[in-house]
Amino acid sequence: ERILHIVGGGMAGSEAAWQAAEAGCRVVIHEMRPKVGTFAHRTGDFAEMVCSNSFRSDDDERNAVGLLHWEMGAAGGLIMRTAREHKLPAGGALAVDRDPFAAAVTARLKAHPLISTSYEEVTELPDDGHWILATGPLTSPALAESIRTATGAESLAFFDAIAPIVYAETVDMSVAWRQSRYDKGETEEERTAYLNCPMDRAQYEAFIDALLAADKTEFHEGETAGYFDGCLPIEVMAERGRETLRHGPMKPVGLTNAHRPGDKPYAVVQLRRDNKLGTLYNIVGFQTKMKYGAQTSVFKMIPGLENASFARLGGIHRNTFINSPTLLDDRMRLRSRPHIRFAGQVTGVEGYVESAAMGLLAGRMAAAELAGRDLPPPPPETAMGALITHITGGAEAKTFQPMNVNFGLFPPIDAKGGRKGRKDRYKAYTDRAKEAFAGWLAGQA
Ligand code: FAD
Repeated sequence: ERILHIVGGGMAGSEAAWQAAEAGCRVVIHEMRPKVGTFAHRTGDFAEMVCSNSFRSDDDERNAVGLLHWEMGAAGGLIMRTAREHKLPAGGALAVDRDPFAAAVTARLKAHPLISTSYEEVTELPDDGHWILATGPLTSPALAESIRTATGAESLAFFDAIAPIVYAETVDMSVAWRQSRYDKGETEEERTAYLNCPMDRAQYEAFIDALLAADKTEFHEGETAGYFDGCLPIEVMAERGRETLRHGPMKPVGLTNAHRPGDKPYAVVQLRRDNKLGTLYNIVGFQTKMKYGAQTSVFKMIPGLENASFARLGGIHRNTFINSPTLLDDRMRLRSRPHIRFAGQVTGVEGYVESAAMGLLAGRMAAAELAGRDLPPPPPETAMGALITHITGGAEAKTFQPMNVNFGLFPPIDAKGGRKGRKDRYKAYTDRAKEAFAGWLAGQA
């Protein structure tokens, strides 16, 4: 008989197990807790929420993560259904009573006739059988080493160093201009791959003061080992000297202000294209441990970004993840060992909801494959489709960093009428997504 093995009973592994079992597949969940712990988990339950207790916005009409909630609900998701049963009052957010939630997920998985559990650490990539690896941001060191050996050192990261990501359409192009440093690049596309925001001396000094004064987040205990290698937070660079950034990521050399060619900028903030669609740009070298509120106010001091909207803010965390754009096919299989799928945060998505959603897809795809069928991913107009398309191909592989779901990942719908127009457009995105997702589900019935 054909058995699906799932390593990791977190957000992704739990959802994957449920989806596969509901599709008639026999499943074994291999979970190392409570025998082997992590610095963040406290219990031996499945689907433990390690930090915040929020699934973020529950607005399925104008918010991308709310749309993901809707899609997971429509697909019979265990995580979403159980979260709703343990909802706490939190305005428009879906906040969850974490302990009863995790206990209920655990009980449901254990009660399923097709699911069994094996409490053990898996320390090596399996040679045969059918597997989903959903071991998350704190994948155990032995297994991480085995993945690294199989995929190459460059393909597995132990930290994310996330620079803030801006929606391209919200950058003021009467201030910023397109140019790569020293006009480097073979093609016109490469020579214009960066957006540049100039600062004069007074603006630079004020920016450094704001960085130094900003509220920062501390690392968790046990989180920092091996961290300070080439991904210093900008505020730490600023602490090392007021000129450090001007000689580092903000150096003004090789760039000419297209709007005022005679003006030599004192410093330049560069934004680099973050996806093939060209809808998202990250601020180069601006990984940071500043609190989110501080980030938005500090980054809006950058000329050209005064009205910027952020698809995601920066952060630095312990986070084991693979370079999915190069390693995975669009069925989430490791290209070099297609009997192994990856799911959850280890694939380079970020967050409870995104991780569970990727588990949902991996579980369904694996169950289909075991039944001799092929299940294509949902269309890119859906939230799940946009995410899987991003991590398995849409993202720039060289600079790949974990991603939250956001409308910048979707095939664009043209904007009309500024900010208000954007609100209406988000409704158009979610309407289009729901129809496409329903079609994808109907195709499996
Ligand atoms: P997990 O939920 O971590 O599940 C992975 C499972 O695999 C774990 O149960 C682990 O014990 C098990 N495992 C690992 N290695 C092995 C092995 N070798 N053999 C067997 N089992 C193994 N996301 C948010 O949305 N909001 C937050 O506030 C938030 N805060 C976070 C804070 C910290 C400190 C960390 C580390 C992460 C945080 N995240 C947060 C990210 C969050 O962990 C993920 O979004 C989500 O839990 C990922 O789901 P997952 O299933 O991929 O991984």
